[in-house]
Amino acid sequence: MKLSQFGQQLTSDSGIVNLMADLGNALNVNPNLLFLGGGNPAKVDEFELLVSQLLSEIAQDPQALHKLVGVYQSPQGAEDFIQQLSHYFQQHCAWQVADKNIAITNGSQSAFFILINMLAGQAADATQHKHFLFPLMPEYLGYSDQGVADDYFVGAKPQIEEIGPDLFKYKIDFDNLHIDDKVAAICVSRPTNPTGNMITDDELNQLSDLAKQHNIPLIIDCAYGEPFPGIVYQSSNYQWQDHHILVLSLSKLGLPATRTGIVVAHPDLIQRVVKVNTIMSLANGNLGPELMTRMLAQGKVKSICKDMLLPFYQRKRDVLMNALRNELQGLPYRIHQPEGAFFLWLWLKDLPISSADLYQRLKQQGVLVMDGSPFFFALDDAWQHKQECLRLSYCQSDEVIESAAKIIGQEVKALYSKQ
Ligand code: PLP
Repeated sequence: MKLSQFGQQLTSDSGIVNLMADLGNALNVNPNLLFLGGGNPAKVDEFELLVSQLLSEIAQDPQALHKLVGVYQSPQGAEDFIQQLSHYFQQHCAWQVADKNIAITNGSQSAFFILINMLAGQAADATQHKHFLFPLMPEYLGYSDQGVADDYFVGAKPQIEEIGPDLFKYKIDFDNLHIDDKVAAICVSRPTNPTGNMITDDELNQLSDLAKQHNIPLIIDCAYGEPFPGIVYQSSNYQWQDHHILVLSLSKLGLPATRTGIVVAHPDLIQRVVKVNTIMSLANGNLGPELMTRMLAQGKVKSICKDMLLPFYQRKRDVLMNALRNELQGLPYRIHQPEGAFFLWLWLKDLPISSADLYQRLKQQGVLVMDGSPFFFALDDAWQHKQECLRLSYCQSDEVIESAAKIIGQEVKALYSKQ
């Protein structure tokens, strides 16, 4: 089969496809695996009970049921969903946005596919090849293979701030952040997958000013953050601005299978996103929008975030944190200060083997984690740190978390002791 350049690009070896396949295989072969990999949200029973009530409401109302399964959504997204969203953003976030600032997509992953390929790559006037700039690597691995040609991303190495005996935090190194006319957009996930870092308000304001000065958008991936699901363990004060593009998702609220993404941006950009999305998907799925419209209309979203999800994930975070501290005592480990999302980012200083090899060894011992190295995808430097980190999800039961931490502790201790 002769492939196009696009076909070649998207079917060649890809970090995210390999990782997802590896996770899928590992789970199917051994369902008892202690699973701290993947980005699936936890099963939060209280939330799923609410979903089942909403589904019963819909099932008992023939008109609502027909709207759910028998009608294509409008290209921009369901009108009532968009109205509820813009109202929520105005009321709860004080953002100056209207319906025309919002577009719905089939998951935020596909929103990124649209944005990356609409802004980066060869410019329409063919004068330049443009990049997405990630000012703070490591970043979400799912961006890394989305460009339809090579060389779409540049990333900046972080500064490492040590905090207390076993914590650290990545900071943006503004002195070494180079923005030239080849940068199409600046992009951050906040809180960050994989590290759980919250780029500070001050850092975000500086990025916003830089983006404005260079007349490019600042893209903020809010998959785990405000305004929902709000898995953020400290306050932040964010205001949307005209040159910001927010990408939101219903996935981490507990609805990953509904595949619902939301883009909030200037109306010119929204209209273009809608056109590409319609070409790619014709229309969005109705389930996520319908459920969320009802949760918004019933005034439930704030309390889902603050009273159901936040305490749930905060407690899980503490379980994994305590277990790791117990099991890794005396070893040269650091944990990224956990400020949001549902991962701990473990740095094993001077690890005698690569994190990729450690990932394989742990898999053999029945523990699935994420190797940290692919999250540095936009950093070319040979930097030992890239091979020393693991991402651990804390979405599983306490028993799974504690057993996994024990095995990680044993394996890592054995490695350091052989040095
Ligand atoms: N952005 C980040 C930071 C993520 O972690 C994920 C998924 O894990 C996504 C975007 C994509 O999420 P979805 O397509 O389910 O909305």
